[in-house]
Amino acid sequence: MTRTLEDVKQEALVCTKCRLAGGRTQVVFGVGHPTADLMFIGEAPGFHEDKQGEPFVGAAGQLLTTLLGNIGLTRDEVYIANVLKCRPPGNRDPMPDEIEECKPWLKEQIDLIDPHVIATLGNFSTQLLLGKKLGITKVRGQRFDWRGRVLIPTFHPAAILRSGSAGLAMQQIEQDFLLIRKTLDETPTTTEDPGEQLGLFS
Ligand code: URA
Repeated sequence: MTRTLEDVKQEALVCTKCRLAGGRTQVVFGVGHPTADLMFIGEAPGFHEDKQGEPFVGAAGQLLTTLLGNIGLTRDEVYIANVLKCRPPGNRDPMPDEIEECKPWLKEQIDLIDPHVIATLGNFSTQLLLGKKLGITKVRGQRFDWRGRVLIPTFHPAAILRSGSAGLAMQQIEQDFLLIRKTLDETPTTTEDPGEQLGLFS
């Protein structure tokens, strides 16, 4: 029997595979349309996400919602998730073993949602999916063929807030969102069964 996204979520909500389980308020699994064409992958929940159980609800999330609105999309039409489902203490960077333990949840989310376009937000999700230590400044705004999907890395919205929303990075993330829009618009409306996909993460 195939697991549904809801089955996976219910399992993830009680996950204790890594140390982050001890410090969380709740697991932040993901939110949005269960068969969205576009999926965003951020880094990890922060303070507000941990409290509310939903990704990108703080200041960075407000910017993400605005950027989505600029390309005619609402949060309900896309799917939003993170590499880590639990908040690291003090919002520190994810540790390699935490990413490894959490990776299967993200893999199942991608498999089940089956998005045509994946936008990775910042270094952690970009490097995880591409399997390479590439800096986000180098790869942002490019389209990668990723397991039959289009992967578009862009800056993390929190980085834009840190660098000032009137700067170059803001212009670049806006450009990247236009590329996301264009890519979605080019997506054929008829879907063919892609067959068995090979391992999702290299
Ligand atoms: N930053 C992230 O990467 N994810 C969130 O959910 C919130 C902030």
